[in-house]
Amino acid sequence: MTETDRLIQGMAEGGDFRIIAAQTTQTVETARSLLDLAPVAADALGRALTGSLLLARLLSKDVKRQYVTLRFEGDGPLGAVIAEANVAGAARGFVENPVPLDATLDVPRAIGAGMLSVVRGAPPAGKPYTSQLELSGSGIAQELTRYLAVSEQISSAVLLGVLNRREGVAAAGGIVIQAFPHATTESRAKIEQRIKEAPPLSTLMEKMPIEEVVTTVLQGCNYKQIDPSFNVPLSYTCQCSSERALAPLALFSDDERQEMVDQGGTEVTCQFCGRKYRFSAADILALTAKPDA
Ligand SMILES: [Zn+2]
Repeated sequence: MTETDRLIQGMAEGGDFRIIAAQTTQTVETARSLLDLAPVAADALGRALTGSLLLARLLSKDVKRQYVTLRFEGDGPLGAVIAEANVAGAARGFVENPVPLDATLDVPRAIGAGMLSVVRGAPPAGKPYTSQLELSGSGIAQELTRYLAVSEQISSAVLLGVLNRREGVAAAGGIVIQAFPHATTESRAKIEQRIKEAPPLSTLMEKMPIEEVVTTVLQGCNYKQIDPSFNVPLSYTCQCSSERALAPLALFSDDERQEMVDQGGTEVTCQFCGRKYRFSAADILALTAKPDA
């Protein structure tokens, strides 16, 4: 599909439910090609990226610069899977081992047992807020549903889907359905039933735009999209800079830094976008010469 990635918002059951949905096909395809992801890695990171975009909007308290980082740190073959997005619709991510040997893995097994950390912050204001949850092995959408319930006291359903084809990511997207505390038992039951009956999200995403996907999933639930002027364009965008790439070198030991200086400098590759930053011996020396006080 050539339509641009976007986040849409709506309401269902007369305001009992808030709906946030995202079409992320191009964002996930960009991640796949930039990071050379095997299908299961594209599936995992695609779900995580979509989830981070949805959560950045869901948890936004009218803060312009808010971002959400999801870190899945399991003992599975993928290693760490990290996705980060801000409320303005920019997302980026990283998979530690993008090409696992076993090509038959599903996402929960590829991630394995471990922890999910969710960091949210709004630089430059204040300290970021981190929550940690043990992974239940039930898939990324389920982990995020559990995180929202346990850490944010938000009752919700999270649906995520990525469809891989031989030539790349054919469709990706997600929906978060948030139940407000005043939602009636009947309307909750109705929405749950619809979610249970709906075809897999990735199947729907391949056939129709996100607007129709949500309408299909929430058929009979009085779903109304709010004005498309509130849509947020989504993209895979890395905001790395030479300054940020240089900073971590300060954490290396004196010996390690001296080695870089002796070699005439070093090169740092951004793990999110593959951009390369070249630092001279003088850059590295300047880093340590900075007074701490
Ligand atoms: Zn980058």
